[in-house]
Order: sequence, then structure tokens, then C-alpha cells
Amino acid sequence: MSLINPKAPILVTGASGYVAGWIVKKLLEAGHTVHATVRDPNKVSSVAHLQKIASASPGTLKLFKADLLDQGAFSVPMAGCELVIHTASPFVMTGFTDANEALVRPALEGTRNVLEAVNATESVRRVVLTSSVAATFGDSWDARDVPGSRLDETFWNTTSSVDHQPYLYSKTVAEQEAWAMQKAQHRWDLVCINPGLVVGPALTTNSISASITTLQQFGDGTLAMGAPCMWNGLVDVRDVADAHIIAGFKPEASGRYILCAESLTLLDMAAALRAHFGTKYPFPRMTVPKILFWLVSPLFGYTRDFVWRNMGWPIHFNNERSREGLGIQYRDVRQAVCEHFQQLIDDGLVKRRS
Ligand code: NAP
Repeated sequence: MSLINPKAPILVTGASGYVAGWIVKKLLEAGHTVHATVRDPNKVSSVAHLQKIASASPGTLKLFKADLLDQGAFSVPMAGCELVIHTASPFVMTGFTDANEALVRPALEGTRNVLEAVNATESVRRVVLTSSVAATFGDSWDARDVPGSRLDETFWNTTSSVDHQPYLYSKTVAEQEAWAMQKAQHRWDLVCINPGLVVGPALTTNSISASITTLQQFGDGTLAMGAPCMWNGLVDVRDVADAHIIAGFKPEASGRYILCAESLTLLDMAAALRAHFGTKYPFPRMTVPKILFWLVSPLFGYTRDFVWRNMGWPIHFNNERSREGLGIQYRDVRQAVCEHFQQLIDDGLVKRRS
């Protein structure tokens, strides 16, 4: 149980990211001093939105350069911090050739690197780690024998690997490493936030988060012929930011907190978008038959194994711990999906069909 001095600076890693942007904004608006690490503080597209928010907020923003793979990079930004919020980790599902280099090494070695700096920084009392529901299951099929296919914080992903679901594997091994390092000492405690797929408006147009690419495919025609029958546990990005901050300051916060308002299929998401935007965009209207998708899946960059284990298997999450322990009152995720899509339109990241 840790009591954090609100006047001490707070370290946020990966501050340029989609989720971190909201955490930094809320901290600055509450008057905190934020030590924000980014890979390149001179890259305007990564940091301009943070600087603009800071200039309109009572809090203070200090930017630091830190790559997850640079040993010792987090020591200077961490000096004097009592609370460390570690969000930085690649969140991409496609577009890489070496999954270990693209995902697993930055997630695992990066977490180790940040926590080695925590071990060396006497002022740190608490670490909040952005994990994921990905650390609770590998494929939706894994939940088939769980009552209601509803997972809670006691579950761990035991089926992902660097070759199968590497993003999910990266989050699992990073969270496991964090718990191992926390248990090896007594000064700082660890709280893990395990969100489902995060949706809602982004403060940056620079993120390549899979949250954004998932939403884009509803507008770019990828799903025009139909959507695979797959569920995502969804949560509003503002609820995710609130949860990190409450978890950081609430002395009794402990363990893991799944963050998920509701599970929706891709077709449910399309229905919410169609109800809001009408027929201007190629939102899918039907489900692609599993056997058909299984046959053609390699052409679309999916393995047949992935399709077999994820299509048609519902997955749900128990959010009781986050509601009772952190007091999260979940925002409507259908509305968040629509707000997010509207923002992609406004930012020119989804083109209107002519
Ligand atoms: P994002 O916008 O892509 O943010 C990822 C952040 O990680 C970026 O700031 C990126 O910095 C940083 N990063 C990546 N590789 C790095 C490296 N080698 N060194 C330093 N920084 C590095 O994605 P996001 O959706 O906000 O994800 C943030 C966190 O939330 C991740 O831990 C992700 O696993 C977790 N999460 C996300 C979701 C979701 O649906 N979005 C759900 C559950 C958990 P650059 O700007 O320099 O690239």
C-alpha cells in the first residue's frame, strides 16, 4: 500500500501514444508535474499535442528522450518520481517481419529496463503498468470452457508465443516480468491495468496503435464484403486514463484490473457506426462464413490456426474488480466507437466514399 505525494513528478513512458496522451492530459489538468518520455522529443508530430495541452493546463510537462531498448535511459526522467506509469510498448498486429524484434523484445526488455531504473530510484513507491486483456488469454477459443466465456484477473495467457499471437505474447511476458521484479523487492508496489480494445477519440494523429487501424478498416472498405465473427472487449480511452490515475494514487489499489465495458462483435460495432453515420461508409452488413475465411485467410495475412481459434468463439470479461476497486463507471463504448470514427474522418484518416 503506497501513499503518493501528488506534488512529486509523475513519470509517464510512451507519452506520445494514443492511451498515454489521455493520461498525460488528465494529469496536467489536475495540476501534476509530468515527466513524459518519448523516443524523439524533437518530433513535432509526437509531442505538439502534449505541449498544447500543457500550455492550457495548470500542470507542468517535461519531455525526456528514452527508447525502451536503451539501457539506463529512464534514470534521468525518473529522478524524484514516486509514481511511474509505464505505457510504452509497441501495439501493432501486422506490418512486421520479425515479431520478436517488433514486439516481444521492446515489451519485455523495455519493461525490465524501466523497472531496473525503478529499483535504482529510491523515491519510487508505485508502478502502474499498462498491460492488456491479452495477458489473460491467447485465442478466444481459450475461454470456451470458462462459464459464460467470461475471464477475470485470475486468468493468464498460456497459449501465445512469438510465432502465434506475438502481440498478446509480448504483453504476457512483459507483465509476468514486472510481477517477478516487483516480488523481488519491498520498496515499490505494482498495479497492472489490463484493458480490452481501447476506443474513443485520440489526442494525436501520429499513433499507429492497432486501436486506430481497427477503426480505419470499417471505413476503408476492408470489411465491405463482410466481417469475421470475432468479439473484442471494448473500453473507452478516457476510462482507461482514469483507471491508470486512480490506480496510481489510491493506496489500496493492488494487483490486476481488467478494463472492459462490454464485448462486441465486429458486426455489432458496424451496426453502431451505421446507426450514427448511415450508409456513407462501407460498414459490413454480414458475417463472413468461417470456412470461407479459413480458406482464404493467408491471402489477408492471417494464419488458418488464428482463424480457427478466434472466429465464432465469444469472449467476455468480468469488470467487477475495476468497478468496485477503482470506482470506474464505464462510458458507452458504442458512442466511443462513433466519436473515434468521426475523429478519423475529421483528421482525414478515413476517406468518405464518393
Ligand atoms: P500507441 O499509440 O502506438 O502507443 C505506443 C507507445 O509506445 C508510443 O508512445 C510509442 O512511442 C511507444 N513505443 C513503442 N516502441 C517503443 C520503444 N522501442 N521505445 C520507446 N517507446 C516505444 O499505442 P496505444 O494503443 O496507446 O498503446 C499504449 C499501451 O497500451 C501499450 O502498452 C499497449 O500494449 C497498451 N494497450 C493498448 C490497447 C489498445 O487497444 N490501444 C489495449 C490494451 C493495452 P513512439 O511514439 O516513439 O513510437
